[in-house]
Amino acid sequence: MSVTLKTIMGKMRVLSGQSFFVRDEVLLNALGRKIAAYATDAAHVERMIDAWVSRTTEMLRIADVASLAAESVQGGASTLPEPCSACAQYGGSFVIREMDGGSAGRCDCMRGLALRTMDSARARNGLKHSEVA
Ligand SMILES: [Zn+2]
Repeated sequence: MSVTLKTIMGKMRVLSGQSFFVRDEVLLNALGRKIAAYATDAAHVERMIDAWVSRTTEMLRIADVASLAAESVQGGASTLPEPCSACAQYGGSFVIREMDGGSAGRCDCMRGLALRTMDSARARNGLKHSEVA
């Protein structure tokens, strides 16, 4: 993983003055590990925390981390970039590459890049049991 739990815990502790902040170390560690599993880099963690605190005054729930990570995967916007002309004809999720025998893959535009980042975050999450904080 590209962001350490220590980094994430440090960023979350910035919020410790907020009334909603939970001081339960077990819960905080579980949240931090979940964020680490989805975050692509430190900036992504910051966008996740920004998106969370700008939307709610409640403590982040572990169940919400995945969707928070997906929507803040790229900077600046809370949604995926618009599909380009190539991937728009396939619903914006993928393109068919003729040279690979017609296999489907992520596009090379910003939207495809964001989707690829989400793919790898999910893949990392599947492997997270091997890493220990
Ligand atoms: Zn595209």
